[in-house]
Amino acid sequence: MILCKTISDLTRVLNAKKASNQTIGFVPTMGALHAGHLSLVKQAKLKSDCVVCSIFVNPTQFNQESDLKNYPITIENDLKLLAESNCDVVFVPTISEVYPDGLKKSQAAVLGSITMMFEGAYRPGHFDGVHTILKRLFDIVKPNLVYFGQKDFQQCLLVKKLIAYYSLSIEFFMGEIVRESDGLAMSSRNVRLTAEERKVATEIFKALSIIKQNWHKNTAANLIAIARKQLEMHPLIKIEYLNCVDSDNLLETVDKENVVCLIAVNCGAIRLIDNVLLP
Ligand code: AMP
Repeated sequence: MILCKTISDLTRVLNAKKASNQTIGFVPTMGALHAGHLSLVKQAKLKSDCVVCSIFVNPTQFNQESDLKNYPITIENDLKLLAESNCDVVFVPTISEVYPDGLKKSQAAVLGSITMMFEGAYRPGHFDGVHTILKRLFDIVKPNLVYFGQKDFQQCLLVKKLIAYYSLSIEFFMGEIVRESDGLAMSSRNVRLTAEERKVATEIFKALSIIKQNWHKNTAANLIAIARKQLEMHPLIKIEYLNCVDSDNLLETVDKENVVCLIAVNCGAIRLIDNVLLP
């Protein structure tokens, strides 16, 4: 595995790969890697000749200073895990390499209304930062294929919009959510949960599972009410949103097909998101 810290190093390495007609699959991450990230690397490896993974904790997408400050950094372990997953190239740039003109953000709103709902509404500026970093990384890596996790479902929609908006010839792939054995969606932030919060956090997937299992037996409104009630029994959990919406545009729907149930909760001090596709 080749480690590149600068854009010029990475460009040199990737130009050589592209010159020999290798396709480039790209998996952008913020590090603190877990099996969810590695599953994307492995899927990318199946469809591309060369897999590039970036590790960059992007400051412009954090809407809370404390979240950025406390974001876990485990670079040595990340490199080991990537090498074991047969990643070909890892790109670990500095902030000034990515943002030579300072931490300026471009507007996500140009990508459409999906950027203003749910995560966009609860984390002001978050998608501006995501738009900025992904456009920058796509311009640097110039991948043929990109791999993103369903865990960040709304981000997946944003990436598809971004590819279309800038007319990039990039193929988009979405990888399934990788979960802990008790159902909790893997997340780099899970390590910050206390033992008690970690236990309660399993209620999130239980609530989503109730909705999924009963999707054709009850109305969406009733199922959401049942799931809410179950979650609200736990004082550590505060729901930000729990909605079943159209999986293409995130708008309210009465349809039972092409639906996604999105949830965000604060579990103690840690904000967690999850979702399930319905039916
Ligand atoms: P992050 O490092 O959190 O920015 O995530 C990098 C990529 O990994 C994103 O495309 C995420 O959606 C994806 N990802 C994060 N957690 C999971 C998970 N539990 N299962 C699958 N993909 C994930």
